[in-house]
Amino acid sequence: MNHFPIFLNTEGRRIVLSGGGDAALAKLRLLMKTTAHISVFASAADDQIKAWAESGKLRLIERAMEPGDAMCAALFYAADEDAAEDKRTAAIAHADGALVNIVDNLADSQFITPAIVDRDPVTVAIGTEGAAPVLARAIKADLEERLPTSLGTLARIGKAFRKAADALPFGRARRDFWRDYYFNAGPTAFAAGEGAIQPALDDLLADHLMKDTRKGHVAFVGAGPGDPELLTLKARKALDEADVVIFDRLISKEILELARREATMIDVGKEAFGPSTPQETINDLIVEHGLKGAQVVRLKSGDATVFGRLDEEIEAVTEAGLDYHIVPGITAASAAVASIGQSLTRRGRNSSVRFLTGHDTRGFADHDWKALAQPGEVAAIYMGKKSARFIQGRLMMHGIDPATPVTFVENASRADQQVLSTTVAEMEPTLTEAGLGGPALTFIGLAPRAALAALPEIPMPHMHDQIQEAH
Ligand code: SAH
Repeated sequence: MNHFPIFLNTEGRRIVLSGGGDAALAKLRLLMKTTAHISVFASAADDQIKAWAESGKLRLIERAMEPGDAMCAALFYAADEDAAEDKRTAAIAHADGALVNIVDNLADSQFITPAIVDRDPVTVAIGTEGAAPVLARAIKADLEERLPTSLGTLARIGKAFRKAADALPFGRARRDFWRDYYFNAGPTAFAAGEGAIQPALDDLLADHLMKDTRKGHVAFVGAGPGDPELLTLKARKALDEADVVIFDRLISKEILELARREATMIDVGKEAFGPSTPQETINDLIVEHGLKGAQVVRLKSGDATVFGRLDEEIEAVTEAGLDYHIVPGITAASAAVASIGQSLTRRGRNSSVRFLTGHDTRGFADHDWKALAQPGEVAAIYMGKKSARFIQGRLMMHGIDPATPVTFVENASRADQQVLSTTVAEMEPTLTEAGLGGPALTFIGLAPRAALAALPEIPMPHMHDQIQEAH
């Protein structure tokens, strides 16, 4: 980081700018949002600058800069759009002790002006050190859309209310109150007029003071196959509000990073609890935290309702008298089939599709092999790597066409996704030879579509070319 971001207190300070054209105008529009005393030196100033001077918003001195003009200034902007003149004025300001910015000249500037999202007193400054103005623009446009215009007013009024809100116990109670203010009660009151905000705050505080301490709750959340963009908005929200997240081995790091920063993260799929935590222990953990009043997110890969031992956990939760809800997710079969450009069902081919598990509590799982061996059948097999040879044997025994396609999709939706296309006759030893290390979904009866295009490059959302990151 070459440029360190800070927020400069401009109250009562001088800011000096040299220039009277477009570049000067653009900078002045930003600077006039501050409480600084602004002086502009320009022998030929734009009418708008003259008008601002007349209405007392800035001081206009209609001549070129001279030594001493930037004395006691905190900041100086060289905005004459003329390299020689900018160099001259910058040298003067530098000698006068001001921090210098030369418009559109990053190399000779001591500071740069970020792209700004202004919800005063909430201000977001975005900078890329000149490396990627297009990125700064995109981030700014995204934030402009996301942050309601009421935010500034709400923050200003909220700030004055902080003392009163300290009546609430520290921690979740206070956090809930402010969240309710900024995202529900506040915006609603704002819509009815600024005058409605203060009474709404008073009511809200009375409400929250009366509220029983919140009851614990468990959300069983499907995290999808791994790509964080395949999370549902509901899953995202649950992670945002979680006090405790209890997650499995297959949940990707990128998804865990979306959880609320203060949330306790409990890994029930790894060494800490042995190779895999016993189901009983997981049930106990969920219940224990729920009973303490926590918002528990039980995060499961794919869809929580598919081979996820969900019922055992729900039973434990209801037995303990806790409320729960389920947030569906994208199951591995959906992600895997998308990656090979096929559909799970197809008119005239198969009017049903089976989701099978390769093994169950008793070992390799038994299925209706005879039905599965029929032409056109499609099956998605979860946890099917170890049992591949067993499945192959059973299908052959029941007379399946040995040329029936078999596709393994490893790490579906993740950056390291791999597709292995083979047939029933060759699925073993092909699979063993490939040595796939990650989770894999096996399709019987589906091959990757031949003319499958490479994945398109996905552009950043909201790439509106609106606002420039200024230098
Ligand atoms: N509830 C999960 C399945 C849990 S069982 C779901 O709905 O997807 C675990 C099995 O799911 C793995 O053995 C593997 O067969 C499959 N699986 C999970 N994530 C996968 C992924 N990203 N790619 C391929 N298969 C995956």
